[in-house]
Amino acid sequence: MKFYSTRDARTVGSAGVSFSEAVLKGLADDGGLFVPEAFPQVAQEFSEGIPDEMSYADFAARMLAPFVGEGAIADSLDEICRAAFDFPVPLKTLGSGVSILELFHGPTLAFKDFGARFLAEVMGRIMNTSSQNVCVMVATSGDTGGAVASAFAGKKGFRVCLLFPDHGVSPRQRIQLTCWGDNIRSFAVKGTFDDCQKLVKTAFSDPAWNARFCLTSANSINLGRLLPQSVYYAYWSLKLKFEQGQAPGFVIPTGNLGNAVAAFWAKKMGFPIRELVLATNANRSIGDYAESGQWAPRPSIPTLANAMDVGNPSNMERLQNLIPDWETFKREVPVFSVSDFEIAQVIQKGPSTSGEVWCPHTATAVRAYERMTVEQRAHGPWILVSTAHPCKFPETLEPLVARKLEIPTALSELLSRSLHETPMEPDLAALLAAM
Ligand SMILES: *Cc1c(COP(=O)(O)O)cnc(C)c1O
Repeated sequence: MKFYSTRDARTVGSAGVSFSEAVLKGLADDGGLFVPEAFPQVAQEFSEGIPDEMSYADFAARMLAPFVGEGAIADSLDEICRAAFDFPVPLKTLGSGVSILELFHGPTLAFKDFGARFLAEVMGRIMNTSSQNVCVMVATSGDTGGAVASAFAGKKGFRVCLLFPDHGVSPRQRIQLTCWGDNIRSFAVKGTFDDCQKLVKTAFSDPAWNARFCLTSANSINLGRLLPQSVYYAYWSLKLKFEQGQAPGFVIPTGNLGNAVAAFWAKKMGFPIRELVLATNANRSIGDYAESGQWAPRPSIPTLANAMDVGNPSNMERLQNLIPDWETFKREVPVFSVSDFEIAQVIQKGPSTSGEVWCPHTATAVRAYERMTVEQRAHGPWILVSTAHPCKFPETLEPLVARKLEIPTALSELLSRSLHETPMEPDLAALLAAM
């Protein structure tokens, strides 16, 4: 399997890169994002469903094998998946025809653990065969940084630089960004997530930076994070299809569009995914594109669902690569933009209507589902994707649900550590000085 840049016209003879190269490079040389040359129909291997004795990790290894190709990564793919996906991925029934896919049982309590842990395992093995010291540079809107730091903390051969918006993360997210020390550096950028993302992109596109720091990206633009996120859509769509006889649709809380693109890829591989619905917060770039056909990225605005505060989602380039025609996009991809007022309402009534305390991001998916027409809801089973554990956001949630949230042990252990962060102006010279 080769991977090509979204900007590659793919003329005869143009060379793609291998999985390992795509993972290490992060971004293609022309500034585009890597996409697979084809989508093997992996679902055909599971025409009888998923065997009872097959674990989630083993399913992941089978499903990802065609993308990884041959070599060291392929040889240890089972081991990689078992190490990366060592936590539960439960689907919880919410009501008739609706369930919740809980993606927050990893060590940092958000779905970012799937991609970050897989990437760290893969990069660790690629590095084993080379002697360079790699700098993993990440812009984070809240949860990516914590997941990447947790996955790479203490890993030999790696430094991690996290850039986060000084006023754009919750206090508990901040602890997960700054509690690691050792090979992890955290920069509190005086600006927005988009400023952080721009800085990282600029550093990457500069050959001098690349040569000096041997940069690689662990953002959701990295293929090594995106592909493992396709697994849970594949896994649960198959399970549901074989249990209930119908293919489910998913509602996905969306910011930088990584999680959503992973779902579209799983659908392309033939898994029984009926339809995909995107829920955004008040950052409306994707919804406005669906309505108007004009792609107009803009500065992000802060909302209650802060990990989705993205005005210029990088992975739009991959989504448009997959669905280039706007008419098709408009027809096939419903987008709901959910206001802070709606998010707060959903959270407030969660305990009484469903017995659930929703994290603000998950609340956008719940609200999108509520806003669907009766006909849309009747299409078949729906799975609402829950992206983070509510206990990461006590400042937002506790006043709304009027109760204290319990802290899982994974988090309480981190809360007791000492914290390290470096304040930084949002420009490249400041970043260079800080590094
Ligand atoms: C990152 C994140 C999202 C958005 O996911 P994208 O892949 O950026 O679209 C949603 N919810 C939570 C909790 C997140 O951390």
